[in-house]
Amino acid sequence: MNVQLLRATPSGDDLAGEAAAICTRSDKPDKARDHALMSGHQSILEHIVFTFRIGGISRVTLAQLTRHRLASYDVESQRYTNTNQQSIIIPPSIAQNDILHDEYIQIIKQTQAFYEKAVFMGIPKEDARYACIEGTCTRLILTMNARELRHFFSLRCCNRAQWEIRELADRMLAICKQECPAIFEDAGPGCVRHNCPEFRPCGHERTHDWDGESNDN
Ligand SMILES: Cc1cc2nc3c(=O)[nH]c(=O)nc-3n(C[C@H](O)[C@H](O)[C@H](O)COP(=O)(O)OP(=O)(O)OC[C@H]3O[C@@H](n4cnc5c(N)ncnc54)[C@H](O)[C@@H]3O)c2cc1C
Repeated sequence: MNVQLLRATPSGDDLAGEAAAICTRSDKPDKARDHALMSGHQSILEHIVFTFRIGGISRVTLAQLTRHRLASYDVESQRYTNTNQQSIIIPPSIAQNDILHDEYIQIIKQTQAFYEKAVFMGIPKEDARYACIEGTCTRLILTMNARELRHFFSLRCCNRAQWEIRELADRMLAICKQECPAIFEDAGPGCVRHNCPEFRPCGHERTHDWDGESNDN
């Protein structure tokens, strides 16, 4: 997986402060921002926008990601590109099981052979792709504002989220914290704010900085 910040609104923390300060005619924008956020006045975050280039995530994770509607997406087309040239994610649980790992590799080989044969025989890529597995990787460009990003992190950095989208969200959060430390200081799952909303809490509070290894696909 690789996650790269393409663009971010410059000085996002300051801009959120300006937005908050205009509401109350405050001459202390930082204070106004912090008070606004504590009071749930989150529209000040909508002026700050981040655009990411994301690669090496599975189509499983793409489906979960695009459930977040307050965002813009452009995704590599499987109609116009050769899906067989994409890597395939092997979930750690399968990778650790010798028997299932071998079977999974066989399935990948079979579907890839089918895809190539079908395209060779004149089947359009848009139809051949039906044989591809959900672990097939994709790449996309994603734009979200800071309010939606905080919401996204609250759901997807949570231990209850699946490991792959959690890794994606953790990497994005690490970038956002670098760009706008004030806005994203307490972003992440509820437990970061000692306020877990889960019906069945996992019992393991998360530290919210991503510290995984880079695995650029
Ligand atoms: C751990 C986990 C498990 C999940 N399991 C499933 C599952 O089994 N099946 C499944 O289908 N989905 C599942 N989801 C997806 C989930 O139901 C949401 O679709 C997804 O998380 C997007 O979140 P959202 O709707 O809050 O936010 P976004 O689309 O990111 O929207 C942000 C916020 O805007 C507001 N909003 C956006 N659109 C509307 C609207 N049309 N009307 C009113 N308010 C709106 C809401 O307040 C919303 O919270 C799961 C999500 C998680 C995190």
